[in-house]
Amino acid sequence: MKILVINAGSSSLKYQLYDMTNESVLAKGLVERIGMDSSIVTHKPTGLPDVVEVSEILEHTTAIRKVLGLLTHAEHGVIASIDEIQAVGHRVVHGGEYFKESALVDSNVKSKIRQLFDLAPLHNPASMMGIKATEANMPGVPQVVVFDTAFHQTMPEKAYLYPIPRVIYNKYKVRRYGAHGTSHEYVSKVAAEFLGKSTKDLKIITCHIGNGASVTAIHEGCSIDTSMGLTPLEGLMMGTRSGDLDPAIVPYVMNKEDLTVNEVNSMLNKHSGLLAISGVSSDMREITEGMQNGDANSTLAFEMYEYRLRKYIASYVATMNGVDVIVFTAGVGENSVVLREKVCENLTYLGVELDKSLNEIRSGESRRISSANSKVEVLVIPTNEELVIARDTNRIVQSFA
Ligand code: AMP
Repeated sequence: MKILVINAGSSSLKYQLYDMTNESVLAKGLVERIGMDSSIVTHKPTGLPDVVEVSEILEHTTAIRKVLGLLTHAEHGVIASIDEIQAVGHRVVHGGEYFKESALVDSNVKSKIRQLFDLAPLHNPASMMGIKATEANMPGVPQVVVFDTAFHQTMPEKAYLYPIPRVIYNKYKVRRYGAHGTSHEYVSKVAAEFLGKSTKDLKIITCHIGNGASVTAIHEGCSIDTSMGLTPLEGLMMGTRSGDLDPAIVPYVMNKEDLTVNEVNSMLNKHSGLLAISGVSSDMREITEGMQNGDANSTLAFEMYEYRLRKYIASYVATMNGVDVIVFTAGVGENSVVLREKVCENLTYLGVELDKSLNEIRSGESRRISSANSKVEVLVIPTNEELVIARDTNRIVQSFA
């Protein structure tokens, strides 16, 4: 079965075409600047040269038509006809309390995704555009939605409720939902396989640290707590997001600086985190470089980032009364030798012992970076959210066939 995986943003659309017979990627790419005068399409067919095209793509239906054209193109294509694509899987950020797992798209599922627009105003409408654009271009082809929040629906009430008047939850469903669920679930399963164990027998802490970052406590295979909240702003310090802060700061600063709701939202989401403290960049590579060159602000940004991550890891050890495995994944987790080293250096009280030479190995493979004596396994597991979407789509479509 060939499956097209789509991750639609408000002005962008990422895609990967999978051949599920061997889970290989036939092509992948990105359409950027949808709705602007010069949209850019970058198409990467496996084994063939990359193609970059600039054209005017005003909405998602045209973007998907363009992608399908490239996938079947005589020169840059990887399939002979669109009919070879038997199903489409979509990443959807917010599944609210409706979706505890991935679902086959029908009118009921679409209506629920629409009801969640309020909770994810930037993301869910974009996913819906992706679904509609697929329907327009590929009528009758089954579609599956895979939610970032679904894996965290196993959290107990004590972890997902905020200690605020219950009416706010009852009326508006304000609670912790978490995010990056597909990634946390995937890397925890790969970690267990790597160790030759079942997730059922493990206490795992997964650190998904990329542009966005979150930590999850996984007990007996289920997410029992996660650092992102109602939105992806809560939790860790991130590239441009503040993460946790005293909620009283929001009205205080709004009052002092005469800021609107949108302005304060933008401050905390786009102008905070590593970028705000370093004054240099939101990218951990540049922060590390600044630190190595003796830049005090970059050093402080790094230290705050590491300190806050370590506090979360420690708090999840407390929630599970122990930890067997710590997993690092995503851009920073998979690549930053120094961040992993600093975190592990300060977890020796748990029995964590890093093997520095293993930590320095650069590879795209799952690997152990803790020493043979370490009481906690520390692993680097490359994440692959698209593969999870393709697998879920395959499984669900087959079950309805
Ligand atoms: P992601 O959101 O998972 O794609 O992660 C992107 C982030 O990973 C970038 O913004 C960088 O901060 C970080 N990153 C990528 N490569 C490295 C590296 N070699 N060292 C440190 N951070 C990295």
